[in-house]
Amino acid sequence: MAAFPPRVLRHIVDVHCHPTDSPISAKSMEQLEISVCAMSTHHGDQSMVRDLALQNPAKVIPCFGYHPWFTHRISLRPVTSKSEHYRRLFLGDDAQPSAESASVFEELLPLLPEPITLEEVISDLRRNFELFSSTTAMLGEVGLDKPYRVAFDYYASPRRLTPFTIPLDHQLSILEAQIDLAVELRRNVSFHSVKCPQVTVDLLNKLKQKHGPQWDNIRVDIHSCSMNPQVMVDLQKKHHNVFMSLSTTINGRSNNLNALVAACPPDRLLIESDFNTIEGCTERCVEILNLVARIKRWPIEEEWADELDKGEWGVVRRIEANWKAFISGEILQEH
Ligand SMILES: [Zn+2]
Repeated sequence: MAAFPPRVLRHIVDVHCHPTDSPISAKSMEQLEISVCAMSTHHGDQSMVRDLALQNPAKVIPCFGYHPWFTHRISLRPVTSKSEHYRRLFLGDDAQPSAESASVFEELLPLLPEPITLEEVISDLRRNFELFSSTTAMLGEVGLDKPYRVAFDYYASPRRLTPFTIPLDHQLSILEAQIDLAVELRRNVSFHSVKCPQVTVDLLNKLKQKHGPQWDNIRVDIHSCSMNPQVMVDLQKKHHNVFMSLSTTINGRSNNLNALVAACPPDRLLIESDFNTIEGCTERCVEILNLVARIKRWPIEEEWADELDKGEWGVVRRIEANWKAFISGEILQEH
């Protein structure tokens, strides 16, 4: 696998990673030779991403958002009681849940945090976007995850899972409110979609209708895309503002990876690590860039040429041009 010299590395943007999931030393940030879009996921890590970006403005693009895996902690209405909130979500309107569900619920409840309201979530996001008003700060990570099961203790290893999933309607309400804010503030979106392609397509179609021309002012990156390649291509045909990013970390496990790279229009493809340590991001980006180069038959840069005809562009230059289009805010035309 080809490595890249520093003059090339400087042009790489990891569009989706979670560096604040692990301790970050000043030295690691100093040694980092690429730029990263650092995702936040729940109430506890928005400020970590904010601080990392404030300390490293040249290398970190902050992304603020509430991930689907943590949406059960968010209430759509004012919270009257913690237990009522979680009971409604996990046991539904069922007045008499099975003995097993009821006992799992009783064990889980004390381990869950006090819910916060969607209103608090939106004002927290708004505050952070105001702080980074002149940057490319994005909404992320947000999205939909149909099969995700809530763990007793998310931080335990191994994680013991409950049978409870988070109702998709609940996930959708929280996602849509966050994207509405992104459209209002012209922020791009890093979008997680797992095992619910049709619901994702329907939502994006609805948002396009609802926001009209404003929809085209933002970009949506379907991150670590796991959709069927044809579904993805159709989605990108209908939405000129939808990009796709791939990682070896997540996509490497699926046999769709090569087909997705092959099917994606060359100017709508981005790369990411989806990694959870800052030290691991560069290596994963280099891996996926090598794979993209092989499948798209693009050269791999061994040096950085200051000027080059488009026909001679290497993989890093092409993906960098896509990133620039992604953050430009210009309306993209169909090709
Ligand atoms: Zn992620």
